[in-house]
Amino acid sequence: MNRSLLGVVSCLSLFCATGMGQPAPCTVSDHTEYSKKIKEFTTEPVFTTELVDHLPLSSCVPAPDSFLHHIVGAPDVLDYTKDINAYMRLLASKSPRVKVWGIGKSEEGREMLVVAVSDESNLAKLDRYKEITARLADPRGLSEADAQKLIAEGKPIYWADGSIHSPETGAPEMLMELAYRLAVEDTPFIQKIRKDSIVLITPIVEVDGHDRMVDIYMQHKKHPDQAPYPLVWWGHYVAHDNNRDNLGMSLALSRNMLKTFLDWHPTVMHDLHESVPYLYIMTGTGPYNAWLDPIVISEWQEMAYHEIEEMTKRGVIGVWTHGFYDGWAPNYLLSIANNHNSIGRFYETFGNGGADTRVRTLRPADTSREWYRPNPPLAKVKWSARNNINMQQSAILFGMNNLAANGQKFLNNFYLKSKRAVEKARTEGPAAWVFPADDARPGEQARFLNLLQEQGVEVHRIEKEIRLPAGESKTEAPGKAAAARSAQDKGEAKEER
Ligand SMILES: [Zn+2]
Repeated sequence: MNRSLLGVVSCLSLFCATGMGQPAPCTVSDHTEYSKKIKEFTTEPVFTTELVDHLPLSSCVPAPDSFLHHIVGAPDVLDYTKDINAYMRLLASKSPRVKVWGIGKSEEGREMLVVAVSDESNLAKLDRYKEITARLADPRGLSEADAQKLIAEGKPIYWADGSIHSPETGAPEMLMELAYRLAVEDTPFIQKIRKDSIVLITPIVEVDGHDRMVDIYMQHKKHPDQAPYPLVWWGHYVAHDNNRDNLGMSLALSRNMLKTFLDWHPTVMHDLHESVPYLYIMTGTGPYNAWLDPIVISEWQEMAYHEIEEMTKRGVIGVWTHGFYDGWAPNYLLSIANNHNSIGRFYETFGNGGADTRVRTLRPADTSREWYRPNPPLAKVKWSARNNINMQQSAILFGMNNLAANGQKFLNNFYLKSKRAVEKARTEGPAAWVFPADDARPGEQARFLNLLQEQGVEVHRIEKEIRLPAGESKTEAPGKAAAARSAQDKGEAKEER
């Protein structure tokens, strides 16, 4: 009752065009039919929270079921890329709090999207917010006072992306409901996210593989007597290692994501995966990569423990951290963010490889009580696609709210990490490498330099002959002061062999 009343009042400021061209006030109530189905498809109350156990109904913005003809997380159904993209574009056409644009195409021509959700006034100033994060990302020449002014004016950006791994099918569905919920719900919790941050959503990273996965899943549903064929390839001649490409950039998805990252400098980039029960929140076991600023290591922990605590307080079981990932290897998609001074993180939720509801029996290794898993998963449970949706959507909402509530701190951390990355080059090196103009393999050299440029590395041409001291090695491990002074300090490039 309170929720719908609040919705009606607060939505008076939102207008949608009617058939007569007259703006009519939007109203929000409870979508009782949808909420009833959420409850029906959730197998146990310990697999949901009050954030996602219902859906608001807007008089202006179409809920997912009106377009998809099923609720998000319904059993036995998955949606194709073109339908998910079409729903996101429909949201943007109906809500002033949503914008959608393409970020590039896959090898087979499918479109990857970014869906931006925030207050209308924030969306009107997206270019300014993008300018602020770009300036904080490269603070050379920026005074401390000016940096603090930009931080005070800026908004943190949370970028969530789904399904780089095609058998992990929950995130593209969940992200449709999340975009809708963020656009229309009027609880103070959601209002905070809209007002004090910008959410970016890429519903499907591996768009080609997603469609192949939906094909085989729906074929299996039509012919349940036939075992489903596992996919040989997910994308275009690539499978699980499509998230090992963020340094080499051989795939369209990697290039599209990197280009978008460097365009926006999101404060957080969050990949949504599925494997271990029920929700693993990445922090990692260490050893952590010594090239990463220690600040990001504590940001991983802080964000993870905030979400674990909020979920656990509500009686949700099997939310944990630490194990599973090491935090060293720079070869996951999320490393695009960690390699550029933002926060790269991921979830693993429990999926059923489709939208079946099945009884799942776990191995003792998945259910043992550990210091990092004090509230472990159950040995046996009936698991549904909706459970998966509830877990990932609830937790990421806590993450988004945490970022919005502490936006200045996270933006300041981003600035600090960026500033220290520049200082590290100046004080410890290496700051530059020299590539000879007479390389015997100029084609390979050019490709490599182009790749560095794609990664945001500056490439300059030396215009006059320079002499470098012989035998000066700058290959010390990070943290040790190297003898080299930076090329920027001396106004010239130094050789690194
Ligand atoms: Zn995965």
